[in-house]
Amino acid sequence: MLNVGQRKESLLKERLSMIRSRIATAVADSGRRPEDVQLVAVSKTVPSEKLLTAIDLGVTVFGENYVQEARDKFNALYAHHLSWHFIGHLQSNKAKYVVKMFDLIHSVDSRKLAREIDKQAGKIGKVQSVLVQVNIAEESSKSGVLLEDTTQLVIEMSQLPHLEVKGLMTMPPYFNAPEKVRPYFKALRQLRDQIRAMEISGVVMDALSMGMTGDFEVAIQEGATLVRIGTAIFGERT
Ligand SMILES: *Cc1c(COP(=O)(O)O)cnc(C)c1O
Repeated sequence: MLNVGQRKESLLKERLSMIRSRIATAVADSGRRPEDVQLVAVSKTVPSEKLLTAIDLGVTVFGENYVQEARDKFNALYAHHLSWHFIGHLQSNKAKYVVKMFDLIHSVDSRKLAREIDKQAGKIGKVQSVLVQVNIAEESSKSGVLLEDTTQLVIEMSQLPHLEVKGLMTMPPYFNAPEKVRPYFKALRQLRDQIRAMEISGVVMDALSMGMTGDFEVAIQEGATLVRIGTAIFGERT
């Protein structure tokens, strides 16, 4: 008989191997290479002990939404070689904490925030990798820049010395059917391709952060390079 801790561990193990194999299948079906798609395990509200189990199972990239919660986990798991991605809405006054901890910020959505990240990164001698969050369906409830404003923001960000734009991120509208999300993923990829074709100096524009528990396979088919998956790995958030 397994004890409660062991049962939880084996559940996480099963979920993770299921997700990895679904990612591998979607990658193969779309003729892409396994190394082109990275799993970001979204660990908001998940306690550090559970992250340790995931770490034992080979997870190295965690996505966090809340600064204070992330700081606690970052400190608790300091001894492990991990990569932390900030995926939540970021207020400028929190930029200084985020710049210290995170390898990639997915959610830059204004010139003001970009400038503040650049300033804080400069103070610690870092070049901060970031993505621009695009509000692809123009939903008033969502953060992100509008599609038509994205190129201009990227151009302005390319002037900031302590910031490197790596690509785009989006949170499309929620549907029960993942196929309905496909047009939004396609639109983000097309925007990425358009901006990349401009060859803006200092801008890489390879990354596409899109796809969550309900729709990551479609996102991979449409070119996602980072999938942000929480529920399917850690279970429902409480
Ligand atoms: C919570 C969250 C996710 C993960 O969502 P799941 O449906 O649990 O996989 C992905 N991206 C962002 C920005 C999130 O806030």
